[in-house]
Amino acid sequence: MARLPDAFIDDLLARTDIVEIVGARVPLKRKGREYAAPCPFHDERTPSFYVSPTKQFYHCFGCGAHGTAISFLMNYDRLEFLDAVEELARRAGMEMPKDTRAGPQDNDLRDQYAALEAAARLFQRQLADSPRALSYLQGRGVDADTRARFGIGYAADGYSTLLDALGTDERRRKLLERTGMLSRNERGSVYDKFRDRIMFPIHDRRGRVIAFGGRVLDKDASPKYLNSPETPLFHKGRELYGLWQARQANQKLERLVVVEGYMDVVTLFQFGVTQAVATLGTSTTAEHAELLFRNAPDVYFCFDGDAAGRRAAWRAVESVLPRMKDGRQAFFLFLPEGEDPDTIVRKEGAAGFDARLAQATPLSQFFFEELGRDINRNTLDGRARLAERARPLLAQLPDGAFADLMRQELQRQTGVTATVAAAPPPAPARRVVPAQKRSLVRSAIALLLQQPSLGLQLERPYRFDTLRAAGVPLLLELLEVVHQRPEISTGALLEHFAGHEQGEALRKLAAQPLPGDEQSWAVELHDAIAQLERQTLQQRIDELQDKQRAQGLDETDKYELRMLLKVLAGRA
Ligand SMILES: [Zn+2]
Repeated sequence: MARLPDAFIDDLLARTDIVEIVGARVPLKRKGREYAAPCPFHDERTPSFYVSPTKQFYHCFGCGAHGTAISFLMNYDRLEFLDAVEELARRAGMEMPKDTRAGPQDNDLRDQYAALEAAARLFQRQLADSPRALSYLQGRGVDADTRARFGIGYAADGYSTLLDALGTDERRRKLLERTGMLSRNERGSVYDKFRDRIMFPIHDRRGRVIAFGGRVLDKDASPKYLNSPETPLFHKGRELYGLWQARQANQKLERLVVVEGYMDVVTLFQFGVTQAVATLGTSTTAEHAELLFRNAPDVYFCFDGDAAGRRAAWRAVESVLPRMKDGRQAFFLFLPEGEDPDTIVRKEGAAGFDARLAQATPLSQFFFEELGRDINRNTLDGRARLAERARPLLAQLPDGAFADLMRQELQRQTGVTATVAAAPPPAPARRVVPAQKRSLVRSAIALLLQQPSLGLQLERPYRFDTLRAAGVPLLLELLEVVHQRPEISTGALLEHFAGHEQGEALRKLAAQPLPGDEQSWAVELHDAIAQLERQTLQQRIDELQDKQRAQGLDETDKYELRMLLKVLAGRA
């Protein structure tokens, strides 16, 4: 991994608010000194994911995910270390240090991007050479400009076209396999995964090719769509086809339209609807929902009007509900039987498609319609059942005007309030360990982790540094780092000890909330250190007394012992 100066990272983290970074991606709710949310890294209903503004780090009590703003971006946005740092530096208006050498891992990822880029170029050349593929695209009204914008290509028929062109040695073949471009049969030989297909490169948020979707030309061939498998670069639940192009084409995205296929995205674009994106063969995930709203305040979901379409729409509802902060809106558009966005925009043009979007069903309406589909609202029973179904879902809404309106609507429709009788969410298992119950060293370490700057109040040299007790070297090391980097946050401190054998223990200790406040912590730390110093005195006294019994003391020893006993008595 590339090395950046510690001071730069400290400065960057000091100028970054982790709550802002996480809050832009995950719906955070204030809980005491911290913020909580359902964990974005594992599936859960009850929030056990906490972000601490004072410690500047996040921690999940469920799955153990944790880290600073940097590691959050790496894990959530799937950025490499340097990219995450660069992203934060850009936000903070900081210049990246010049000397950021790339390590072997960065090189491997860079090679993977390069291999996919080369594949995309190869497919584009093959498209130019294939009258059949070209006429297919022309037949669908995709012009050269749109082809270039989306980087559309063609994978020739044959089992080793790509392999022969780009897999020229063992290393390159391995690379192609890692990026999902090759398949392997039972006998272990590899061959092109995509054959005789129109190829749609899938771009990441920075415009790099990370995967492909391939569509058959012959409408009877199957599968109709074939996607790259999940790879280190490609996680389909996190990517949206066409988002890169939509962002390039629109200065500011006011809306995004979610459709089903690549061809829908491309045709809509061709006809002037430049804000369409497609999920990649999955239903809308929570990560998709977050990504959509991060890019545009209004999101329109297009689905088939049949039962399967409504089920898919409901899954989208479940994904967006926890993310419906004020200012965000979701709409649902159900298409007539046998139509898809591609056919509609061809017949009706962008204006016709826009007119349909304008008639789309708002989330609030679809929510109550769908929830009450098989319920008779004219009966008390029916209304009670509707309220019962709605409550747990409405509880997921972030606080705000939209949540209030939805609860009022529930009350209007059922006469039952959204919160009455709703069971309080079970409190997540958090152990609050009173500091004084821990060992002294442990307690001092816990306090330092709580607020590293407390360590600055302790004067060096530390008189407990010769104490033979578990954890003393670690405590000294922590204090050393704090003095060298006075601005350091808890998150950055943990980052420093990440590879340390005690790193994991430190992280767990840091995640536990301590009772009290800054003032009481300062007092506790001073008390703990004073007691450690006392123990150090006692340790030396014991040594001298042992020596006295064994061999007797010389004058210097005797003097030291007298002084120590005096000091100890004075301190008691
Ligand atoms: Zn978790």
